[in-house]
Amino acid sequence: MNTDEIRVFQGRLVRFTAWGLSHEEANQLADKLVARDREGDDRRLCLECDHLRGTFCRNYREADIGEYLPRDFVTLFQRCAGFTGTSNTSGFK
Ligand code: SF4
Repeated sequence: MNTDEIRVFQGRLVRFTAWGLSHEEANQLADKLVARDREGDDRRLCLECDHLRGTFCRNYREADIGEYLPRDFVTLFQRCAGFTGTSNTSGFK
């Protein structure tokens, strides 16, 4: 990984473990995101979104989804109209 990828990877680990993933789960997910970013895949995770608070989506109307998100959904690659990236985990908005 280059310097930027390492910075983003570490930010993701912090965010993902703070949310409740184990270190191993967070590490595996962050690895998948490195591959995703390199491939130019435009799908995102709720875990990367600034609107996620615990298992609650603060932008559920724009996202056209329920307020409460199942744990599995939060770690699912998806395209969401309500997504806004967090600068510490992705750099994209
Ligand atoms: S806006 Fe979309 S990506 Fe963001 S937390 Fe809500 S459902 Fe997830």
